[in-house]
Formats: sequence, structure tokens, C-alpha cells
Amino acid sequence: MKEHPDDIIMKQPDGFPIIIQRRCDKLMDYFLLNYFVAGFFFAYLYHTWLIAIGVGGTCLMAYYCIKIALPNSRLYQYVLSAILGVFVAQFIYQMHGLSEMYLFAFIGSALLITYQKWQLQIPLLIVVLIHHAVFSYFQNAGHSKIYFRQADYFSLQGSLIHILLTITVFFICGLWAYQFKRYNQFRINQTVQMERLKKDAQLVLEKKHTEKALEERNTILESIGDAFFATDKNWIITYWNNSAEKIFNIPRVEILGKSLWQVFSDIIDKPFYDTIKKSVDENKSQHFEAWYEKQNAWHDVNVYPSENGLSVFLKDVTQRKNSEFQMNQLNLNLQRQAKELAISNAELEQFAYVASHDLQEPLRMITGFLTQFEKKYSETIDDTGRKYIGFAVDGSKKMRQIIHDLLDFSRVGRTEDKIERVDLREIVKDIRAIYSRQILDKKITINCDDLPALHTFKAPLRQVFQNLVGNGIKYQKPDQLPVIDICHVERDKHWEFSIKDNGIGINKEFFDKIFIIFKRLHDTEVYPGTGMGLAVTKKIIENMGGKIWVESEEGSGSTFYFTVLK
Ligand code: ADP
Repeated sequence: MKEHPDDIIMKQPDGFPIIIQRRCDKLMDYFLLNYFVAGFFFAYLYHTWLIAIGVGGTCLMAYYCIKIALPNSRLYQYVLSAILGVFVAQFIYQMHGLSEMYLFAFIGSALLITYQKWQLQIPLLIVVLIHHAVFSYFQNAGHSKIYFRQADYFSLQGSLIHILLTITVFFICGLWAYQFKRYNQFRINQTVQMERLKKDAQLVLEKKHTEKALEERNTILESIGDAFFATDKNWIITYWNNSAEKIFNIPRVEILGKSLWQVFSDIIDKPFYDTIKKSVDENKSQHFEAWYEKQNAWHDVNVYPSENGLSVFLKDVTQRKNSEFQMNQLNLNLQRQAKELAISNAELEQFAYVASHDLQEPLRMITGFLTQFEKKYSETIDDTGRKYIGFAVDGSKKMRQIIHDLLDFSRVGRTEDKIERVDLREIVKDIRAIYSRQILDKKITINCDDLPALHTFKAPLRQVFQNLVGNGIKYQKPDQLPVIDICHVERDKHWEFSIKDNGIGINKEFFDKIFIIFKRLHDTEVYPGTGMGLAVTKKIIENMGGKIWVESEEGSGSTFYFTVLK
């Protein structure tokens, strides 16, 4: 695992990094065990089991007891130093001689360097010195059970040289420990400094970024058309943009640092105030429109509460509100007018229906009585009288036809037909049957393409086809064989039908007029009719959501087009 600089830097009170100390402790565990085992090895060679177990075990116990009992103290390191010295003494005793003393003393002393503390050499030195002094004394005094040197005599000079050499070893190791510590301290300081520099650089960078972001935010806030202002948690205004200056006519310098409710005291307890309070209390953004009485203006307001306070975007929407109001008024007027128009249309249709229905009865009476009159007084009235009666009967017949057509017209849309499947080929068949006599007499040809079946109202659609085909047959040149073509095109949302004839055609200026009620272009003597057929046709088509139009040239036939919604 990679070490984090902070772990290295985390130090004990004595300045030694904790992570390195843990590693040293582990190393010591390992070496102490080896020392202990080495004692056993020597015991095996020199039969000193009691010493190996007794001294080695006591050393380990002493070391671990101190370590566990005082976990926060560094005392165990000094104890370690001392027991390393004791182990040296143990090994000397076990081997009955000093020969390997330097090796063990050096290993112990070198191990202590890892703690980077020169003072740790002192307990080791003291133990070694005492051991040398005491054991050499006892050996010289003639104690046979004290093993120190294998030689029989032991000179002071030799002893001093031993001690001097040992001190030199400890001194060198102590110096290393000291140098290591200094070097490490230097490295740690460097790392700390580097970290600090890095942090400082990061802070400067972050500050720069924040400043840039703030600058960008301010540029945006100043350039937007909306008024924007911000307050802190205590309603003190901290930002007031250009548009806010214009809308409220309050310069930034005057308002910054003041309380929002002190400046706008007039809206306290108004809906404006309540909504802002609610937004802050519930910590939820709000969008609303409010009337600001002081300015006679409508404002569209967006409120965004945050940890730092409140941000408010606001724009003057008085113009839009006024237009909306006018539009609403206009819509209401239109609705009212449409309603009135619908009522008057319904009344008019009702009137036409009743009038034409009721007019038929007196007309029947006139025709009936005139016929009776002609029969009864046929001998007394002269030819002129008969002619006049004939005119009167003809007139009333025409009148009947007109009333009939008018009734048809007023009935359009009143029928209670249901939408059903209407096969147009069947309808054309019906129409051929209706005009069968004329088809034979005048050798009329009626062509049609593969007409579809629609879902629509059958009777009105049949009426449309019948009227248009009927006109195509009627408005013909005397010397020509009539040909009628019925075609269709399927569009996205509707069907488009066309009924084309090769008749007399229509002048362009009458294209619209022929659809007006009673509008005719010919004398009834030449082409009989009432001028209601196309008006009825148009009304039916428009009632079904379609439209009708004509394309024609005088003398070259006409084509009537109409659409039916799918
Ligand atoms: P009517 O046929 O009873 O006179 P219409 O409303 O059907 O009434 O027609 C109105 C007028 O339009 C007709 O008088 C006629 O002049 C003209 N018209 C209609 N269809 C045709 C047609 N296919 N060709 C030429 N003129 C036509």
C-alpha cells in the first residue's frame, strides 16, 4: 500500500513518525524471538538450559510487560536496549567466553539505530559495562561458577581495551541513529513544506476559480433582462443587479446592506411577502405572478431559497398581463357572439322550416281550387282566362318546388342519421337508377374510378353526389353527348372527390356565387331549377367538416371538387 504523506508526518510526541515506529517494533519482535531462540541453541551446545529459559524468558517478559502496561510511553525502547545488553551477557555466560561479545553487542546496537534515537545506546552500554565490571571482578576473585573469559587471568588493561572498543561500537551506532534522525527530520520537513506549498497553490487556484466563476455569474446576472437580487439569511440585500435598479428605480449603492423588508415595507402581509416567506420556510423554490400596487405593475417572480439566503429573479409582465386580459375579454365577447349567432341561426332554421312547411298547405289549396275552378267554369271562361289559370298553376308549382328545396335546405344537419359504412359504388348505382330514363334518352355516360367505401352519413352524401351528377346532366350543350367522370384521391386526413362534366361550363366570376341560395345563372325556361341545389350541397359538405369548390371554363365543362373527412 502506498503511504500517504500525512501518515509519515503523523508523529509521536518525541517527533518520531508513528508508522516508522510501528515498523521498528515489528522488527524488534522478530529479533527478540531470534535472540531467545539463539539462547536455546547455545544451551544445546553448552548445556545451559536454565540460563537460556530463565534469563531469555525474563528479558522477553520484561520487554512485553512494559510495552503493554505503558502503551503511550517510550520506556519500552530503553528496556529493549537494556535487555539487548542482558542477552549479550547471557550469551557470554552460555559460551563461557567473550569472543563473540562484539558481534552481539554490535547487532543489538545496530538494531537500536532503527529508532533513530542515540540515547537508546546508553542502557545497552551501561548493562555491558556493569556486566564486564562485575563478571570480570568475580572471575578474578576466583568464583568458579562465573563464566566471563576462558583465560585464567584478566588484566585491567585488556579490560579497558574491551570497554573502549564496545563504547566505540555504541558511539558509532548512536551517531548513525542521530544522523538518521536528522536526515529524516529534514525529509519530513521538506515533505511538510511541499504539502503546504501544494495546498497553498491549490487554495490560490481554487480562489482564482471561485473569483472567475463569481465574475462570470455577475456578468450573466447583469446581462439578463430579469431583475435579480439576493439576500442573506437575515434578509439583508447582498446583490442588486442592473435590471433591478431599473425596475424598482433604486440604485445599487442605496439598497445594498439594507433589509429587504425595510425597503419593501409596503408589501409586508401581501401575497408577495407571504409566498417568499413560505418559500424560505419550506426551503422550496416558488414561481408566481404578483401585482405590485406601488408601481401599478405585474411581476413574474421566481424565488430560490438556499443555505446562504434567498435569490429572486423578477420581470415586469404588465404588458403581457394587459394583453392577456384584453384577449380574455375578446374571447368572452367572441364566445357570447358565437352563442348569439348559434341561437339566431337555430331560430332562422326553425323559421325556414316552419314557414316552408306551413306554406305548402295554402299553396296546395290555391292549386287545387284553381284546377277545380278551371274544370267547373271551363265553358264560361275564354282562352285568355284559361291561359292565366295555367300561369297561376305553373307559378304555384314552381313555388312548391322552391318551398320544397327550402325545406331540404333547412333540414340539412337536422337529420338524425347515424355514421355507417357507405359504399360509394352503391351510391353511384342508385344515381344511375334515378337518372336511368335520361341516361337512355340522352345517351349519357357516367364513368367512375374504383370508388372507396367511407364511414359517414349516407343520406346527405348521396344527396351531394345526386345534386352534382344531376347538374352535370342538366347543364349540357344540346348537340353533345353528356359524359360525367367521378374520381377520387386519398389524402392524409380526407378523401377528395371530383365530378366532371363536358357541359356548358361556368364563367370564373360566378365560381363563388353559384353556391349562394337561389343564385342561378340561367333562365328557368332554358335550364329549369330553383338555385338551391349547390347551396344545399355546400351546406351538407361543410356540416361534415369538408369543403367544396369548382374549376371550369365557359363552354368546356366544369369539375366540382369536394372533400370528406376520413
Ligand atoms: P339549379 O340547378 O337548381 O339552378 P344549383 O344551385 O344546382 O341550382 O346551381 C346554381 C347555378 O349554378 C345553376 O343555375 C347553374 O347556372 C350553375 N351550375 C351548376 N352546376 C353547373 C354545371 N355542372 N355546369 C354549368 N353550370 C352549372
